[in-house]
Amino acid sequence: MYNAKAYSAAGETSPLAPATITRRDPTEHDVQIKILFCGICHSDLHHVRNHWRSLIPTVYPIVPGHEIVGRVTKVGSAVTKYKPGDDAAVGTMVDSDRTCARCKAGLEQFCPNETLTFNSPDKHLGGVTYGGYSESIVVDERFVLRVPSNLDLARAAPLLCAGITTYSPLRHWGVTKGKKVGVVGLGGLGHMAVKFAHAFGARVVVFTTSPGKKEDALRLGADNVVLSTDKGQMKAIRGQCELIIDTVPYVHDLNAYLPSLSIDGTLVMLGFLGDLEQPLNTASLILRRKSLAGSVIGGIAETQEMLDFCGAHDITADVEVMPIQKVNEAYERVLRSDVKYRFVIDMASLE
Ligand code: NAP
Ligand code: ZN
Repeated sequence: MYNAKAYSAAGETSPLAPATITRRDPTEHDVQIKILFCGICHSDLHHVRNHWRSLIPTVYPIVPGHEIVGRVTKVGSAVTKYKPGDDAAVGTMVDSDRTCARCKAGLEQFCPNETLTFNSPDKHLGGVTYGGYSESIVVDERFVLRVPSNLDLARAAPLLCAGITTYSPLRHWGVTKGKKVGVVGLGGLGHMAVKFAHAFGARVVVFTTSPGKKEDALRLGADNVVLSTDKGQMKAIRGQCELIIDTVPYVHDLNAYLPSLSIDGTLVMLGFLGDLEQPLNTASLILRRKSLAGSVIGGIAETQEMLDFCGAHDITADVEVMPIQKVNEAYERVLRSDVKYRFVIDMASLE
């Protein structure tokens, strides 16, 4: 075991602050990575503030972070895919049982025994896993990913969560050239959904609550921007989207978006984990054979496929790189939907 510098929160109302954590020494299949950049996902904030207490209660202290890129510093004796000096990346999962039907199908995100990158039982050290707001991490090579060499590492970090979480449902629901895809919420996930849907040849409609994001949405690849608070604009888009990717993190009225789906259209929820407070008006679903669905990240092979796609198409996130000392300020800005479009921590600031 060795000590590593990190940032952790001691409780749901505590700020993130400097801490020292323990990491395992690499075992035979492990890769030790010096973390260079880590994105700030809204899920980090949900966990730190215990928003999902009924589903995944937070164990404190928590070290969040699951959009990790860095450089390999040491490998175990049986590691074949990585060597010291290689670039490497880690997303939201660091292990799974690898034996269940879901793992065998490349769907580790549904494994009943998956280990998440943070706030998940740590099989090696006991306690819970600690994430990427840290100077280093040790991960089994099967859960380490390769970043294409042409991509900027800071801008690639958000691909490890925001990227795969939007790529996977766009692929699963068969988005191809000419399809019309709606994206609700232009934040970290939303702006990646726009980039991918556009790259797949779809026509993209952004639904936003922020009038000031219109120009950016068009620049990122949207063909149409709808201010979701404007009834007239919402009416004009009725019946048009074959797929809607909903990235809103908090309770919101789905009845406002379901009419925008076409016959057989699907609304996929990515953000809001919890009970709807509004009744769902099922008429829109029934009378037009629509579906309401959800999706969570993606498997390891699909994550590598997504990274390779990004390398081939030169896709990365729009980021604001910041020192870790500004992380609490960044959280406040994330809560105000004031980020263009992902904060990324420059881990050199931790030294
Ligand atoms: P984010 O960067 O904060 O973006 C969320 C966007 O939603 C905001 O930019 C804003 O866009 C819109 N929004 C925020 N609050 C809203 C409200 N009350 N009503 C309507 N719109 C609102 O968050 P993110 O990192 O993209 O994450 C989005 C959600 O996905 C979070 O809940 C996160 O935990 C979850 N998530 C899920 C997965 C998964 O696997 N399913 C993976 C990662 C993250 P506008 O300004 O354009 O309205
Ligand atoms: Zn995330």
